[in-house]
Amino acid sequence: MNPQNLIDRRDWLKVLGLGTLGGVSATLGTRPLLAAENTNAQPGSAPLTITRVRAIPTCPQRTRLVVVKVETSEPGLYGLGCATFNQRPLAVITAVNEYLDPFCRGRHADHIEDLWQTAYTSSYWRNGPVLNNALSGLDMALWDIKGKRAGLPVYQLLGGKCRFAVDCYGHASGRDLAQLEESVQRLVERGYRHIRIQLGGYGSPHLSEAADFRTHGFGRASDELMEPEPYVRATETMFERIRDHFGPKLELLHDIHERIHPVDALRLLKAVEPYRPFFIEDPVAPEDIGYFKLFRQQTAVPLAMGELFNNPHEWVGLITDRLIDFIRVHLSQIGGLTPARKLAILAEWFNVRTAWHGPMDVSPVGHAANAHLDLASSNFGIQESVNFNQEMQEVFPGAPTMKNGYMWVNEAPGLGVDLNEKLAAKFPFPEHPGYWEPVRRRDGTSVRP
Ligand code: MG
Repeated sequence: MNPQNLIDRRDWLKVLGLGTLGGVSATLGTRPLLAAENTNAQPGSAPLTITRVRAIPTCPQRTRLVVVKVETSEPGLYGLGCATFNQRPLAVITAVNEYLDPFCRGRHADHIEDLWQTAYTSSYWRNGPVLNNALSGLDMALWDIKGKRAGLPVYQLLGGKCRFAVDCYGHASGRDLAQLEESVQRLVERGYRHIRIQLGGYGSPHLSEAADFRTHGFGRASDELMEPEPYVRATETMFERIRDHFGPKLELLHDIHERIHPVDALRLLKAVEPYRPFFIEDPVAPEDIGYFKLFRQQTAVPLAMGELFNNPHEWVGLITDRLIDFIRVHLSQIGGLTPARKLAILAEWFNVRTAWHGPMDVSPVGHAANAHLDLASSNFGIQESVNFNQEMQEVFPGAPTMKNGYMWVNEAPGLGVDLNEKLAAKFPFPEHPGYWEPVRRRDGTSVRP
């Protein structure tokens, strides 16, 4: 049992800074709510309005995190949501503070669906990672508030647990096969049953040679090199070696990261099929999803797709035509928990499983949102995991924890994660703006990451 489950819920109320007045005490049953008090006529909840929405930046573990805090008319009752867009955080902060805040003030904090729908169209021109991340910050914070109001963890509001904890995959990588084997071994010893294997550095820059663009002064010297052929060959060898070394029980995953041509991706999928991957991720870029029909006809390798999609509707055809096996979704990128929950349910009807995106550029609040959905989704597949450093855990008390390859959330009402704002302010964004560094072919041609 997760030791955090043993912590009394009342202690968590204190940790999370919940108010002791009005709604919270009413929902906990210490003071019955009078019908006359509830002008909004919602049984079990006092009227609650949003008083302020603001973005809080912090960077305790390399990535530029943006968390949205939604304050309410009840003193001390607030919610937190993840709005992290590591490559353009200042744009998200502007969208939150200058546009969402005035839009939300005075509106009902309980009306999550209505607020999502109206905020989504409040710019008329919708979608895109900046506005969706801002919207996600609001949306997750509203779920957090609703859970606190109900005195229940968010997974309970979503229908309750389908499993005791969240099975995760860990990340193994190495410059060469020997390093990769050591990396896999370390994760096996920590209890992971699913491991994503990447060789030659992320995007395989160490597998390619002769960056001719550098010697000809094209691009910058720091731009990465990536040639498809050495990568495809090495990846087949990698699967053969790791499967042979670790046996049939270990589940192996891999992310192509869309850097090769679709026909090369097809060749790679067929080559690794005998080694039974758990899934292969992003075989093509979002612009090339028409190739999935071809993949499906030619290989039985399970496919995961979608981390770069912006609009939830982008998954619809891939799900309903049964062309993928896992949806990869960056929750904040599509606007938060509300659209992700709908997407999970759509996928369930077509027996497609979830694999929410969970890298370092998701705040602990966002990871908690992933985990609450994982716990309550029948068609959960696997969860990407991270390990938070000491600073991150101190800035975000109540952050999800990892044990034996499982992710655990605590049993506090809401998402269960708080933010120490004073401490968060001690970790400002680094000077580098954080954009994705260019990746190039030998001759300098840019490659979509
Ligand atoms: Mg990926």
